[in-house]
Parts: sequence; structure tokens; C-alpha cells
Amino acid sequence: KPPILVPDLAARLGLKPFNVMADLIKLGVFPAPNQPLEPEVAAQVCEIHGFTFEREKRDKDKGFHKVEEVIVEPEAPEAEPENLLKERPPIVTIMGHVDHGKTSILDYYRNSKVVSGEAGGITQHIGAYQVSHNDQLITFLDTPGHAIFADMRKRGANITDIAVIVVAANDGIMPQTLEAIKFAQKAQKTIIVAINKCDLPSANVERVKTQLAENGLQTTDYGGDTEFACISALKGDGMDVLLELILLQAEVMELRANPKATARAGVIEARVVPGRGTTATVIVESGTLKIGTPFICGPFAGKVRSLINDLGKNVKVALPGTPVEVIGFEELPHVGDHLTEMKNEREAKALGSERQEELRLKRLKPQHRNRMEDLFTMV
Ligand code: GDP
Ligand code: MG
Repeated sequence: KPPILVPDLAARLGLKPFNVMADLIKLGVFPAPNQPLEPEVAAQVCEIHGFTFEREKRDKDKGFHKVEEVIVEPEAPEAEPENLLKERPPIVTIMGHVDHGKTSILDYYRNSKVVSGEAGGITQHIGAYQVSHNDQLITFLDTPGHAIFADMRKRGANITDIAVIVVAANDGIMPQTLEAIKFAQKAQKTIIVAINKCDLPSANVERVKTQLAENGLQTTDYGGDTEFACISALKGDGMDVLLELILLQAEVMELRANPKATARAGVIEARVVPGRGTTATVIVESGTLKIGTPFICGPFAGKVRSLINDLGKNVKVALPGTPVEVIGFEELPHVGDHLTEMKNEREAKALGSERQEELRLKRLKPQHRNRMEDLFTMV
């Protein structure tokens, strides 16, 4: 078998050789230059970075020229069979410059568009809530994007499908608007623009559209493909139109998930609630979260003890696209971690201990700290 050398392995992992050396030292391996690694050791290094280790099979027919190599593949969730996929609600985040109306939009929907039959609006803040429009659900992340810019990436950027960028019509595009646009584009989110405060006499919608076009977002009425709505979060004008645009985009995006798959959910908030203990709000990505489901979340095991929806009600199950507060964590999870259903508690605990040990080793290595955030995102 051909040797596994540090520079090759590093290249496969997208790292520099010294990063791999650092991992090896933590694992108690001190290879001399050009000394090949044992496959078990290489596998451990791969695992640290969220890859699985396999060796390519030698193709006998092709003779000697094809060198057997180390392959590392990120563990992606399995593709689900088409016929099991069901539509799920879009997950929407609201971003924009300070004072342009993010909170007002979220409050408007929270108070007026709550799933029918629930008078009084949503008073429970679990980090996300659902509204219903024409019998279709939309999930809003309840924290305006700008407040959490720094860790937005962890905090729902991967969970979000659509970014609504708010621009106040009297103010126009401002620095944080641009930041929000760049962020959403980089994360490859579908952007819908909400031109807010259209009720003000000083509103200048045309100027906003020109500014958007100058920044690469040509609106549909000028031949571009950026959907927009002129709204007033204060008076309610255009607020239904915005929901309709969101639902239309969601349809185009064919947002679907398999409710029968292994449950998987992203953590958007985590806190300790007096009397309840450690809780976290998650948004279900696939499968169905149920009471009693054993799970792993980052380095911690757990078992779903209760599920509380955005109206503060206890529920038995949470379907894809649904935000729900989960009680049953062993420890406070990290925002951005993924909760994944496990076969049983024993396996969950074993994997938890394994990951905690891995983390303990990583903590000995300060220059790797920035990579730790990514450590558990590929479960
Ligand atoms: P945020 O900082 O983006 O969350 O903005 P807020 O929602 O807190 O709004 C900032 C200010 O603009 C508040 O005083 C709101 O009452 C006001 N505001 C928000 N939306 C509208 C609107 O549609 N029209 C008018 N006239 N004022 C608005
Ligand atoms: Mg606000």
C-alpha cells in the first residue's frame, strides 16, 4: 500500500501540513519528516475535521499507474428518496440597518398573523415563530439579523432559506444594509427586499430601487430578479404582499424534507430557564422530533423530555421547518450545533463522551479555536 504522508493528508483536508502535525502531536504521534502515517492515525485526524477516512480501491485493470490514495469525504446527510419528501415551511430571517424596521416587522407578524385560533399573539419568545398565511406556514427567526451579525453564520444562516432585507424608504441603503446584502449573498440565501416606512411623506422608493440596482440587486420591475414589496410595518400596508412573496419564493425553491428521516435540527438559541433547566430552541431540518427521542447535540447527549412550541404549548412532535423548544439536554448546547437523533441513549452517551474527549484535546491547542465552531456542523 502506498504511504500516507502528512502533506497529502493535509491537502485532502484543506489544511496546512503544520495543522496536521499539531493534530498528530495532540494524538501523541510524533512522525519524522516523510515518515508515513498509520491508517488508524490518519483516520483520527480526519475525524477531528469532520471527515471520514477511506482508502480508494486499486483498479486492477488500470495497472500500476493509478496510485492508491487517501480519500476524505465530509459526512453529508443521506439523500432522501423523492417520494418521501414533503413540503416544509420556509425559514426566514430579517436583516437590515438599525431603525429601518426589523423589530416592527417581526412584531407586526407576531401579533397579527399567528396560526389561526390563537388570539393574543405570541408572547413566548423562543427565538423563532410561525405565522400562517393562506393556510401556509412561514417560520421567522425572531432575532433581527443585525443584532447577531457576528455569529449569524452559526446562528441560523445555514438554517435560513430566505433573507428579507429591510430598507427604510426615507433613509435608503445604509452601511448595515450593504453588510446584510453581502452576508446574505455570501451565504447564498434568496433575498427579498422590504422597502419599509412607505407611509412617510419623505419616502423615496425609486431612490431605494436605484441604490439596490447599484449594489447588484435589480428589482423585478426593472427587469431584474429581486422581488420586493413596499410596506409599512407601522400601518400594515403591504405586509400580506411580503408574505405572499415569501411563499412564492418558497415554492420556487421547492423546500422539502422527509418527516420520516432520522430527526435532525439546528440549535438557534440555548439557555437555562429557572425551573426548567437547560433548554434550547431548535428548528427541525428533517425527520420528526418526538418526546423520548435520544439525541446527540455537539458533544452532548440528551433525550427529548418535552417540546414547547412558539405559543408556549406542550406538543408531542415537531415536523420539519418547525421551531420548538427542547427540554432534555445534558448540558447547554452551542448555537449552531445540530441535534441528531440516535438509536438509543447508550449510543448517544458513547458518542458524546467521544466528542468531549476530542474537544478536550482540541482545547489544548489555542490556535485551532476558530475551527472548533465548525467541528460539529457536519454530523
Ligand atoms: P430596527 O432597529 O430595524 O429593529 O427598527 P425598529 O423596528 O425598532 O423601528 C425603528 C423606528 O422606526 C421605530 O420608532 C418604529 O416605530 C419606526 N418604524 C418602523 N416601521 C415603520 C413604518 O413602516 N413607518 C413609520 N413611519 N415608522 C416605522
Ligand atoms: Mg430592532
